[in-house]
Amino acid sequence: MQTKTKKTPLHNTFCSYCEYTGIVRNPNFEQIGEEPLVPCPRCVLTKCQCNGLPPYFIEKDGMISDCDCRAIRMKINRIKTIYARSGIDKKYQWRFFNSFEANSKLAANAKNIAYDLVSKFPDVRKGLFLWGNPGTGKTLLSSIILTELIIRHAIEGRFIKISRTFFNKIRATFSEGSATYGTAQEIEYELQNADILVVDDFGVQRDSAWEQETLYNLVDARYEAEKFTLFTSNVDPYRALADLADGRVLSRIKEMCTIIELTGSDYRGNL
Ligand SMILES: [Zn+2]
Ligand SMILES: [Zn+2]
Repeated sequence: MQTKTKKTPLHNTFCSYCEYTGIVRNPNFEQIGEEPLVPCPRCVLTKCQCNGLPPYFIEKDGMISDCDCRAIRMKINRIKTIYARSGIDKKYQWRFFNSFEANSKLAANAKNIAYDLVSKFPDVRKGLFLWGNPGTGKTLLSSIILTELIIRHAIEGRFIKISRTFFNKIRATFSEGSATYGTAQEIEYELQNADILVVDDFGVQRDSAWEQETLYNLVDARYEAEKFTLFTSNVDPYRALADLADGRVLSRIKEMCTIIELTGSDYRGNL
């Protein structure tokens, strides 16, 4: 359900075309080699007198002042910097809700919940735990949510895929010859403190006690700090996580996230 947007000072500055953000997405940016985000042509560029030349100042009567476009252009630059280090897989970058085709009732439901969450953020109590069969769009949907939140709020967001590579990267920080030697704490700190974290492919990693421990510590830390976290998983958390750490992991995830299934177990799929 969509709620009516409240009147805020932003309504005086920006217009409905850019949804009162001053920024519009440029869907054809890749084909024509442009930027994915541009200042709104209706309410920002109409006032721009600097022609988009950094540092976006204008000179009038010998005085230098900010061009009216400056705040938005600086925000776009900040978003791009954050986005570049977010870790979102290249093939899922700059994708928005219109690229998520819900081909089941459950997927449509998940999309609605995700959209609602993005619209209300940061006034949301819980993150999401999206689970279902492989190929149901969990990674795409979580990437879209992260992209939307970074664009709308210019806040730090990270995307990590729980894989062999992920653990090897952390493991490398313990080996003296490695370029990342000694940075385990930095990586941990970053993951624990990012405003938004997507943990893709969270499952039951039974390969080693250390790997399990690493993941549980991360869940614990995000829980304690009340940080917004999204998980995707191929497994039903009620079953797969029930016995782990005496059910502590499941109970934390239930408190941190709304658990949403993307496909039923009898899903035949039309992907
Ligand atoms: Zn506008
Ligand atoms: Zn300007």
